[in-house]
Amino acid sequence: MGAVWVYSEIYAGRPAPVALELISKAAELGEATAILLGRDAAGAASVAGEYGAARAIVDARADYDEHLAPAAVPTLAALVRERQPALLLFATTYDSRDVASRLATRLDRGVVTNATGIEADGDGFRILTPWGANTIAVCELTGPGTRIVLVRPKAFTAVNSGGACAVEQFAGPLDAATTAIRVVETVEETTQGPLLSDSKIVVAGGRGLGNADNFGLVEELADALGGAVGASRAVVDAGWRPYGEQIGQTGVTVKPDVYIACGISGAIQHLAGMKGAKTIIAINKDPEAPIFRSADLGIVGDALTVLPQLIAEVRRG
Ligand SMILES: Cc1cc2nc3c(=O)[nH]c(=O)nc-3n(C[C@H](O)[C@H](O)[C@H](O)COP(=O)(O)OP(=O)(O)OC[C@H]3O[C@@H](n4cnc5c(N)ncnc54)[C@H](O)[C@@H]3O)c2cc1C
Repeated sequence: MGAVWVYSEIYAGRPAPVALELISKAAELGEATAILLGRDAAGAASVAGEYGAARAIVDARADYDEHLAPAAVPTLAALVRERQPALLLFATTYDSRDVASRLATRLDRGVVTNATGIEADGDGFRILTPWGANTIAVCELTGPGTRIVLVRPKAFTAVNSGGACAVEQFAGPLDAATTAIRVVETVEETTQGPLLSDSKIVVAGGRGLGNADNFGLVEELADALGGAVGASRAVVDAGWRPYGEQIGQTGVTVKPDVYIACGISGAIQHLAGMKGAKTIIAINKDPEAPIFRSADLGIVGDALTVLPQLIAEVRRG
């Protein structure tokens, strides 16, 4: 099996958490190489080594931070043409999707998106992608050349094995077309409570809550439990909650210890984003609601009656 590369976005001087998940997976599949671009690349390389990278290819120029993500494309294209890794993994983030699609066009390659599983298969790979909640599509990548795959966050576990990696400096060919737009300001969106994707407790609300005001009950329960708030797409489409809170196939994937679904039917597209939760608790007034088929604990009842009782109980301690 050849080299398995991970394009690793950098946040706060470290590879992003999802990049570490991919690096640990890459180490299972072959020789894991982290591609790190930007002013903090050298420091991030040592963290990549701890999570399984055997090698880091580093270009520490600030140009990558000062321009939009596609500035990385010429550098990646040059590296791939020169070294032909067997597999190049990207995380499904806004920036990496942008980079992966442009890179694939430059290299005249396809991209497999939405992967949640990767298996080595002789000289090739089998890529698993969810197709609804109960079906997995398997894509066999057997041909020559570098295979480009976008992987969903939380598909794999980041494992700190305490290793170290060889670091190689590389000066990529930045070009005028991809550095035409300069980033002049980065604004961090401040949210209250824990981050949805990392929270151990998620309380999510659906259309069954009736309106945006009633959604306050979901916020109150999440607050009382120290958890994060999530929503179904129906709620986001109705404008009750922001898109960043949507859980499911076209939203965030969560894997909390406890997931509480309030007035959510349990459509397959929703389940795709939360079925990895350790314990699923559902509150729904319809005893036939599909969510109960996935739930460990089900409460058949009106969420507007059940939630205030739960909140009071939790607050009572
Ligand atoms: C390509 C595609 C991608 C999609 N991606 C996503 C995605 O990422 N995430 C997502 O969530 N959906 C997604 N959807 C939409 C999905 O199919 C469902 O339409 C959506 O999840 C339904 O949201 P809901 O459960 O809140 O609403 P509904 O299906 O309307 O369910 C509401 C539930 O609330 C219950 N209820 C009603 N009143 C009460 C009450 N007072 N107390 C308790 N329970 C009550 C009802 O019994 C019902 O089960 C996608 C769809 C498509 C086609």
